[in-house]
Amino acid sequence: MSIGTVGVIGAGQMGAGVAQVAAQSGVKVLLNDISEEYVARGRETVARNLDRMIQRGRFKVEERDNIMRRIDTTASLEDLRETDFVIEAVVENEDAKIALFQKLDKVCPEHVIFASNTSSISITRMGARTSRADRFIGMHFMNPVPAMRLVEIIRGLATSQETYEATRTLAERLGKNTMTAEDFPGFIVNRILLPMINEGIYTLYEGVGGVTDIDTAMKLGTNQPMGPLELADLIGLDTCLAIMEVMHRVFGDDKYRPCPLLKKYVDAGYLGRKVGRGFYTYDAQGNATPPAAHGR
Ligand code: NAD
Repeated sequence: MSIGTVGVIGAGQMGAGVAQVAAQSGVKVLLNDISEEYVARGRETVARNLDRMIQRGRFKVEERDNIMRRIDTTASLEDLRETDFVIEAVVENEDAKIALFQKLDKVCPEHVIFASNTSSISITRMGARTSRADRFIGMHFMNPVPAMRLVEIIRGLATSQETYEATRTLAERLGKNTMTAEDFPGFIVNRILLPMINEGIYTLYEGVGGVTDIDTAMKLGTNQPMGPLELADLIGLDTCLAIMEVMHRVFGDDKYRPCPLLKKYVDAGYLGRKVGRGFYTYDAQGNATPPAAHGR
């Protein structure tokens, strides 16, 4: 299958990252969000990332301009009819995603593949709510997309072999390694990662350690590049909570019970890096400051 233009829906941290790697790989992108303001913000994120790479000597200005020229934006879903492959990266909410895919199903020609970047929601169930369950697949990018090498591919029960192969080929064209997971909540990466993050939040909640104690323990004690709380801030606490809720509800097992402190932070609007406040606070340059004392 030849892919001319890739549609990316949702211009937040993941959508902007996907748009960037696609454009860097020479693929034309149409980036969509719910308003002109949000699509512009997504495009600015890409421009800022590329500027940082120029400062580090990894890019020339002309290359950046060529990459940016490959990213068109629209706030109108109807424009997605011109694309060959759509990657959805909107909020981690099943109803919102299904409503979007049902609209898109009416807009896009039959051959267009729909890929969801969901972290936990059933690919089989979302696909079944469209007329193209065979052309529906999970394409789970990691955050930050330009830096992370993996795309986890999830086949729904009805996903065809052609769809799977086209998706894997696209991921490889974007310079990513792939692996495949069965369609169960959280797939492989988040099934293992999120309970660890949630447990990190429980250790804070129960006063076993402070924010920096917990992150230092896991960084230096287990050789992870980031501690669970700073990683939660990077992912977004709303997304972490949504993933835990899906796993808790669908598996029906209390080992996935979201920590009450995670819920409280989300209630407060402390969603992590993307809003400048989570377990840490962040300045405009993204530098993190831990809470003053043992802070929760
Ligand atoms: P985000 O909050 O940064 O961005 C979501 C964007 O989607 C926002 O700009 C929002 O305006 C837009 N949006 C919401 N509804 C929309 C609609 N109907 N049409 C078009 N745009 C819409 O979230 P994110 O972190 O980029 O996460 C997006 C998806 O990627 C989620 O499904 C999440 O689970 C998944 N994901 C996130 C991470 C991570 O670390 N954050 C990693 C892998 C996958």
